[in-house]
Amino acid sequence: MKSIELHPAYRWDCDDCGRENFVRGFIASLPNDEMSQMKEACGIPEEDHCEWIARPTRVTCIHCKATFSVSYPLTFKDDDDDGQ
Ligand SMILES: [Zn+2]
Repeated sequence: MKSIELHPAYRWDCDDCGRENFVRGFIASLPNDEMSQMKEACGIPEEDHCEWIARPTRVTCIHCKATFSVSYPLTFKDDDDDGQ
């Protein structure tokens, strides 16, 4: 059996034509100290392997060619936001 590589991707629905789209995520290369900070902010144990997937800031529908900026529904706790 032949094998293929899977790549992380984001799914989004076009507001103009309503069709489903996919766009690849980009694996971010972070320095070890920044990766440790991100793991801590997300509650991921330091010893766990993880890859940080960067999202695009703009997407274009492959069906109707409409272009959109991207909003991010997820937020993470920032040390500066703890009210202290
Ligand atoms: Zn579209």
